[in-house]
Amino acid sequence: MLPMEAKSTLDGLPTRFGSGWISGVLAVLLAGSGLGAVICFLYWDVLTMEEAREHYARYLPYIRGLVHVLLVAGFLLGVLSISLRKSKILGVWACLMVLVAALLGGSQAALGERAGKPFYLGLDYFLLSLIITSAIFVPLERLFGRRDQPIFRNGFWTDMTYFFISTLAVQFTTLMTLAPAMVLFEWAQFQSVQTFVKELPWVVQFLLIMLSTDIVQYWVHRTFHVVPWLWKFHAVHHSTDAMDWLAGTRLHVVEQILTRALTFIPVFILGFHLVPMAAYVVFITFHATFIHANVRFYYGPLKWLIATPQFHHWHHAIEREAIDKNFAVHFPVLDLVFGTFYLPDQWPSGYGIHDKVPRGWLRQFFYPFLPQKKSVTEETPVVQVHE
Ligand SMILES: [Zn+2]
Ligand SMILES: [Zn+2]
Repeated sequence: MLPMEAKSTLDGLPTRFGSGWISGVLAVLLAGSGLGAVICFLYWDVLTMEEAREHYARYLPYIRGLVHVLLVAGFLLGVLSISLRKSKILGVWACLMVLVAALLGGSQAALGERAGKPFYLGLDYFLLSLIITSAIFVPLERLFGRRDQPIFRNGFWTDMTYFFISTLAVQFTTLMTLAPAMVLFEWAQFQSVQTFVKELPWVVQFLLIMLSTDIVQYWVHRTFHVVPWLWKFHAVHHSTDAMDWLAGTRLHVVEQILTRALTFIPVFILGFHLVPMAAYVVFITFHATFIHANVRFYYGPLKWLIATPQFHHWHHAIEREAIDKNFAVHFPVLDLVFGTFYLPDQWPSGYGIHDKVPRGWLRQFFYPFLPQKKSVTEETPVVQVHE
């Protein structure tokens, strides 16, 4: 396990076991999720995904029970943190959030108007994604971390803002992903081809989805690296100097939509079955998080077959010989075929780029649209070498 002597970036106190740090962070996460869920209940028709509502309705008693557990656990852990830790900020925040949630009706809060409004924000999607990914990856990174790096590392809150906004805007990004192919490529759909594809075993369909999306993704990604005005959008993704489970969320919305819309075209034309499609959406969410994660796993010969954290970490590396390498997201063989494969046995010495990308979601949103230098007031360190 990693040494825990590090100081918290939130209150400057030690983060070792028994210091009230773990209970404090967990308290804030659980209480915040519980409060978020209560707000989802109250604004049911505007803050939850329309497609998920009937499933939520079916399991509502269990969901309410879970929210109750979240709030009680958040409160108890908050009290524990207050008693253990000199700084009370985490514990007090957690208890305050539980109090607000209770005042709003707690786990029994009434479901808001169900008027079927056409637009929604995916607050439920944000909370579920946050709980599931952090529950998987934070312990993995603590136990198998490649680099001793705090959870709340440099740029954490910027990346959390990306995570929050992109999950909240799930309806918009999904529409922008699907619509271009549906409007522009309907002519390319052939019944005979789609019937043939749909009858293939689901595993084969799944692999075909991975391959077709990755071929398009490879070239879109490579184009983002070589076309100067497109690079400014992609530079935002490369501006992180720390790799972990959250780093992959730093994607400019223009890049995210453009890449997704283009990679969806072959999928739309080939017309896969819904089950392998849904499995792929779950897989890409996990895999995109995993290849950025701060984990030191090695894979032996598997590393030639599927993109690993080491493979994608080299894509973010500061080493000169790693620049413009490893564009694939799933299959490293694409980089072998197109001459951009780079995977030495060791790990990169640091991550980042020389472009002066500003800090924060908002500044990074405007960064590609503004003339360079003049617009930049606060700059990221050019490149940080950690080891
Ligand atoms: Zn890149
Ligand atoms: Zn990346």
